[in-house]
Amino acid sequence: MSLAHGRHYLAIPGPSVIPDRVLGAMHQPAPNIYTGDLVEMVDGMVPDLCRVARTDGKVAIYISNGHGVWEAALANVVTPGEKVLVLATGRFAEGWGVVAASLGIEVEVLDFGQQAPVDPAQVEARLRAYGAWTIRAVLVAQTDTATSALSDIAAIRAAMDAACHPALLMVDCIASLACDRFEMDLWGADVMVAGCQKGLMTPPGLGFVFFNDKAAARRSAMSRVSAYWDWVPRTEAGMFYQLFSGTAPTHHLFGLREALTMILEEEGLEAVWARHQVLADAIRAACRAWGAGGPLRLNMVDLAASSNAVTALHIGAPHGTRLRDWLSAHAGVTLGIGLSTGDDDPEGHGLFRIGHMGHVNAHMVLGMLGTIEAGMRALKIPFGDGALSAAAAVCAGQDQ
Ligand SMILES: *Cc1c(COP(=O)(O)O)cnc(C)c1O
Repeated sequence: MSLAHGRHYLAIPGPSVIPDRVLGAMHQPAPNIYTGDLVEMVDGMVPDLCRVARTDGKVAIYISNGHGVWEAALANVVTPGEKVLVLATGRFAEGWGVVAASLGIEVEVLDFGQQAPVDPAQVEARLRAYGAWTIRAVLVAQTDTATSALSDIAAIRAAMDAACHPALLMVDCIASLACDRFEMDLWGADVMVAGCQKGLMTPPGLGFVFFNDKAAARRSAMSRVSAYWDWVPRTEAGMFYQLFSGTAPTHHLFGLREALTMILEEEGLEAVWARHQVLADAIRAACRAWGAGGPLRLNMVDLAASSNAVTALHIGAPHGTRLRDWLSAHAGVTLGIGLSTGDDDPEGHGLFRIGHMGHVNAHMVLGMLGTIEAGMRALKIPFGDGALSAAAAVCAGQDQ
């Protein structure tokens, strides 16, 4: 007997749960890609994407995942032989650095470990040690999806300004966009990369590079940029096909249109952020209560530095893997695997992650937490009392 039959909840940190409405919007015949409804729809989507990013800048859309836009963004503003500074808080800015190195870019990593956000003071000190222009760009992930560390982008900008350093600030919001508050213009990010499959609730396949005038000026000064990655024709297209450097990803665009309507017109971006905040607070409250009587621990202890899109947890090997397996076999919930960089648990069997990004509501989160508790009971993993009441209290708007 299994209790898994019924609607499955994919609680991993991307791809996220796809709303039926987004799937429904994709279920239609092939459209004309030269004129008509599709062309008009994309015209309207470009400003909506910029609203989600909180920018008056531009956005180039790529048929790609997050790794693709890592490369796209770099290809427009950094030349092989130039240097970037990677601010590492887990796995993902480091991954962007690996892509940079493969393009012949010199990479220096400032590592903040696996349980802390970026420390802006260290960024300032490092940049002061360099002359202007020796570092072309600073690369950071707002939310690192491996550790759930959330870094303060405005504070990093302030540190760069304090060091009077002209480097571009390039931010990976692939996990955080439309989950954690992000203000591209207000916070001074020059380039931001995102994908459609996390907070934007659309099947994987679209990547976005947002950029401001400073980054555009840097692009203009590049001696050459690969035709496919070049963001200029994608943002100043005379012909519709130039927006995508070829055939448009028609059905992904239909899905994304529906998702943007849900986020911007129906719920509202501020309300989307607030919902993610409360649901993440509920998860963290439950985890703290469990941890008071057992091995479960939040990876990020500091609430201000914890993402509202994903929660990374320690439970001791092999309990992470056993719990994930139990939930998917018996409860209809798939939890995220742990991404380990530690030597003590190289396979990450003592870790797991909860994805709570995008199309997630109170009953999904409370149900998911209830099944984690059932799993710990079934597997005889000790835990503290009161976790589910604590989470319910957060959802009810009551103080802990
Ligand atoms: C998911 C993710 C990526 C990678 O995206 P892919 O679509 O898997 O290439 C990069 N950065 C962050 C912060 C992510 O969460």
